[in-house]
Amino acid sequence: MPDWTESPEDVASFRAALLRFFDREARPLPWRSTRDPYRILVSEIMAQQTRVETVIPYYRRWLERFPTLGALADAGRDDVLKLWEGLGYYSRARNLHRAAQTVRESFGGQLPDSPAELRTLPGVGPYTAGAVASIAFGEPVPAVDGNVRRVFARLHDDPVPGARAVEDWAARVVDPDRAGDFNQALMELGAIVCVPRGPHCGRCPVVSWCRARSAGTQEERPLPKKRSRVRREERVVVVNVDVGGQPEHGREPDVGREQEAQHGRRDRPPRVWLRRRPDEGLLAGLWEFPSFSANEAEAADVASAGEPLAPVRHLFSHLHVTYRPYVLYRSSAEVDGRGEASQWVDLSDLGGVAVPVAQQKIAALARRFLRRTHA
Ligand code: SF4
Repeated sequence: MPDWTESPEDVASFRAALLRFFDREARPLPWRSTRDPYRILVSEIMAQQTRVETVIPYYRRWLERFPTLGALADAGRDDVLKLWEGLGYYSRARNLHRAAQTVRESFGGQLPDSPAELRTLPGVGPYTAGAVASIAFGEPVPAVDGNVRRVFARLHDDPVPGARAVEDWAARVVDPDRAGDFNQALMELGAIVCVPRGPHCGRCPVVSWCRARSAGTQEERPLPKKRSRVRREERVVVVNVDVGGQPEHGREPDVGREQEAQHGRRDRPPRVWLRRRPDEGLLAGLWEFPSFSANEAEAADVASAGEPLAPVRHLFSHLHVTYRPYVLYRSSAEVDGRGEASQWVDLSDLGGVAVPVAQQKIAALARRFLRRTHA
């Protein structure tokens, strides 16, 4: 069967149908009312692997705090991570921050308009480069994300479309006059009509071009990718509590602290010891309770000396971690002698530093535990 994306007439009517759908049904997302390349870049990075409803409040807060690329470039890393707190995949925040600094240093503070130059920025791959170039600058280039790949797999009834083939299809059909709207229309179609399970073919604007729908194979297109195996890890977490006394930054709790806590004497809110994660890797630069792999000797010490809290489970993309937190009243040297940056913070607000979601859950459990035992 000939490929309809090579027929100019088919392509023209496909574009018109898809753009009509976009004009009529697109959700009024906050970044759809701007052409500001910085705002579009922020929205695209935030929306990677994240639901639009989750992104919206983060996007608004981010732009209040960092309204321009220059403001972001000037920000401190802790401020950037704090604002991203809870959104996950924190490398996106670090890359966005570095991208803003790169744009200032290498592009005179203006985001470049070509996909090739955009791709030189940290964290900007082919999809993001295509999205920013087309939406902000009207460049007639494709932007293929997971939604667009699924739509093309169905339109062409291809069970395993290669990245190259999808890029080629998308490049042939992109509308040269409304490239940004066209790319967003394809994404929107994938997000609200051509959804992964149970596509709404009855109200699809491009059903006449859909070969999977004609063949009745739309549910099986594309075939699921092989999932890489999820690794499991168990960590023993030290919630080291400093209750009462006069706080001083970095001061270790003294020997009488536990008894003091047990007798309920407290002249200020409890503090806990946090350390900063290394600059590279998972959750880089965020703050957390110190922890040990369950196999390490220190883990057994912590478990025998501490008060156990409920376990907290967290699924990262390929890693399933079970955190087993224990409350201790130990000196920092005993639990955190590994040289990372560390500090005492108030348990109530964790010092306002950026703390991943699982660690916030542990802090909430610790608060409840201390309220119960020290009331
Ligand atoms: Fe997707 Fe159905 Fe439209 Fe085909 S007809 S593109 S499967 S929603």
